[in-house]
Amino acid sequence: MTLELNILGTSSQLPTKDRNHGAYFLRWEGETILLDPGEGAQRQCIIAGLSVPSIRTILISHFHGDHCLGLPGIIQRIALAGVKDPIRLVYPEAGQIFLDRLLTCAEYYNPLDIRYYPVNQNGVVCKIGKLILEAQALKHRVPTFGYRLVKPGGRRYDAGKLASAGIFGIAVRLLEKKGEIQTTDGRITPDMVTYTVPDTIFSYISDTALNEQVFRLMDQAALVLCEATFLESERDLAHTYDHLTAAQAGDYAIKSGVKNLILTHFSERYNDTFVIEKEVKKVFPEAYAAGDFTRYTFSPGKGSLNIEKIGKQ
Ligand SMILES: [Zn+2]
Ligand SMILES: [Zn+2]
Repeated sequence: MTLELNILGTSSQLPTKDRNHGAYFLRWEGETILLDPGEGAQRQCIIAGLSVPSIRTILISHFHGDHCLGLPGIIQRIALAGVKDPIRLVYPEAGQIFLDRLLTCAEYYNPLDIRYYPVNQNGVVCKIGKLILEAQALKHRVPTFGYRLVKPGGRRYDAGKLASAGIFGIAVRLLEKKGEIQTTDGRITPDMVTYTVPDTIFSYISDTALNEQVFRLMDQAALVLCEATFLESERDLAHTYDHLTAAQAGDYAIKSGVKNLILTHFSERYNDTFVIEKEVKKVFPEAYAAGDFTRYTFSPGKGSLNIEKIGKQ
């Protein structure tokens, strides 16, 4: 099923006239997931035509303001809609005090069934519908986690092979149950009428210095959303403040077998992000510098991204 990533903001610490604080609205396998709602995330959703009350999971990488100051507005909007489904909040456990403050910083009626997932170690956090959520600690100035969403692959029946073997309806269930079935052509096992589908992986890598966990997060991902605050010309600054350059993100992606790379979280010093895209494409051609109000869609069968502008421009 198609993965849809909507970019609502692409700035790092300081928003600019053209770039909001980061916020990323992901729809995949019937799930609606908001990543790192920076300041203004609610209004960015409205402009983009994305429903805030449809959000059921919010992932926060760390509690620097550009990754979480939009949370109060988002939660209060969902509460106002009286959403009955559970709302998952996933965040670094070490930032619990900041989460508590963000959820109680203004008066509002909160009928929500919020499920808390404080993260304090690497590995699987929870299941989100058919998706498996994993976390890996990143190297930043405050406790920070990157996230990896995995849609498990496995074996799928091949309709053509089933038909040519004369297996239909209840016979398919029998084959599944018994592990083999006798047909007029002889014995058929599941291996003979199925094909392998690999895992489909989306990774979100927020603020981090060069760190081997980035490889684990990116490994064989179909789509990676990664910070690239600086260009190589500011490599020393990137190192000092625990961030990546565009070329470093591209280098990691190519070494990790990534199919598509989208960069975000740009320093306000770059008026035009074309320079960032130019730098990363030299290392990794299937890479883009995201723009606010851009939608990237990925279909596993297709491999490449579809890119379109959304919202009122
Ligand atoms: Zn940041
Ligand atoms: Zn940060």
